[in-house]
Amino acid sequence: MSLRQLKSIILICVLTSTTVSAQFSFGNYALHNVNIIDTSSNGVLYEYTILVSNDKILNILPSKNYKPHDSVQSINLKGKFVVPGLIDAHVHFATDPTKERRDNAEKVLKEMLLSGITSVRDMAGDARALSSLSRNALVDDIMAPNIYYSSLMAGTTFFSDPRTIASAQGGVSGKMPYMKAIDDNSNIALDVAEAKGTGAAGIKLYAHLSNIQVKKIVEEAKRQNFPVWSHAALQIAKPSEIISSGVTSISHANMLVYENDESENLITSWIDHKSDGKDKAFWDKVFEKLDFSELYQLMIDHHVVLDATTSVLVIYKNHPKMVWRYEIGKRIIQQAQKSGVLIGAGSDSDQSTFVQHEMKLLVNECGFSPLEAIIAGTKHAAMATGILEKEGTITVGKKANLLILDANPMDNIEHIDDILLVVKNGKLYNNK
Ligand SMILES: [Zn+2]
Repeated sequence: MSLRQLKSIILICVLTSTTVSAQFSFGNYALHNVNIIDTSSNGVLYEYTILVSNDKILNILPSKNYKPHDSVQSINLKGKFVVPGLIDAHVHFATDPTKERRDNAEKVLKEMLLSGITSVRDMAGDARALSSLSRNALVDDIMAPNIYYSSLMAGTTFFSDPRTIASAQGGVSGKMPYMKAIDDNSNIALDVAEAKGTGAAGIKLYAHLSNIQVKKIVEEAKRQNFPVWSHAALQIAKPSEIISSGVTSISHANMLVYENDESENLITSWIDHKSDGKDKAFWDKVFEKLDFSELYQLMIDHHVVLDATTSVLVIYKNHPKMVWRYEIGKRIIQQAQKSGVLIGAGSDSDQSTFVQHEMKLLVNECGFSPLEAIIAGTKHAAMATGILEKEGTITVGKKANLLILDANPMDNIEHIDDILLVVKNGKLYNNK
């Protein structure tokens, strides 16, 4: 028996041991004979070898061309499938960051990582707490996906919202570097620099901002090489104005309705008491009269990712007054996808469900193929977050962030839960 064979056997024994939530670390290793779900060619690459060196993918080649080395440990994954590590483009881990929330955040982040999520984008909270979580995750003090977080900007009237007060404990909501009220007299260059100084990966625009204010923020953020993420409508600024401003992503598909000058009247007509029991034919007819094609084209032209948040919309499925969000929202997501808009997967459900749930909803509610849902939860979520150059696809030179599955998720999206191994920044995790 060669040294390499012995090492392989030892490795398999370790990987199949019953230690709960084990983590393994090797400098260099080969994921051998694995079938790659290739999101660039939309097919399966059968029997490939992925060489990992420290935290990166060093090489990808057909297994028949791979010559094993004694110095490189090998994991035989014959019959298994690999997708890029999942990215949840919309989480909230520090809205009210008291001690319990930190404990809970750590518990949920660990579950997320072991479920195959290797990065998350936190869409606003207490950046002091998020910075700590993010750093701990990066240096493996806690078991967690990579955490990218945002600094929030909104109009002055927004900052009486109790969530912002909780996130600014010890300071003043609207006057924190990561939670800033913007008006026409704001020093935007300084505000953007302060937002960036919190360690955030981008700015989130939340509410009550005008078109001119949005433009000023995005222009300055571009100058400082910092992405801007926005709600799809900001009460004053409309979806088309936000999309054209140069933001990287917009959140919540149903909000595209606010492009229409008659949106308030329309919504009133949808929420009247007769909404109860209105059926598919009713909503199909309502949707037929709405035209979002110009918005879709604008999103395509400006490379804006739609962070759809289907997981939030389904919550309103049986809510007589809010059911429109679900019925209109899911139709927008389906139509936008068919029109060529990039859809990103984010759960935004206070972590009661993860991005896998969002991906299944994209398939079951919005007519995506399993592969399209996988792309939404990997490549497009990476684009939304602004990290595509280092994550989101299985590519030489990118971080070794991978999810290895027992069955082909292109056959059935449910297989996304058949987890064998998770690789985050080159380190292997399993839950067995
Ligand atoms: Zn959110």
